[in-house]
Amino acid sequence: MISRICDRFGQPLETGGLRYIARIQVYAAYDPLEITFDDLGRDYSAEIRRIIEECRDLTEEELMRDVYVDFSFDLCPACQKAYIRDPLRASEPGNG
Ligand SMILES: [Zn+2]
Repeated sequence: MISRICDRFGQPLETGGLRYIARIQVYAAYDPLEITFDDLGRDYSAEIRRIIEECRDLTEEELMRDVYVDFSFDLCPACQKAYIRDPLRASEPGNG
């Protein structure tokens, strides 16, 4: 019985057969903050107002997408092999 398809090229995946799940998380990276004494005394209210203004017309989903996105893909064994060999190019046809 077929219960899923490979998300790469659409091959059917048999129930109970070997399949893989590729989870991809894309999130904003940051460097550790260095807070100085001067930083603590600074007035950030104008900067905070500017950021709120920039975000005003964005939906919660749009705001979240700028910070964190996660994907989950079902892969057949052939696509798993191609994917782990070169994850950044694996979705291009002909790289299997
Ligand atoms: Zn596949």
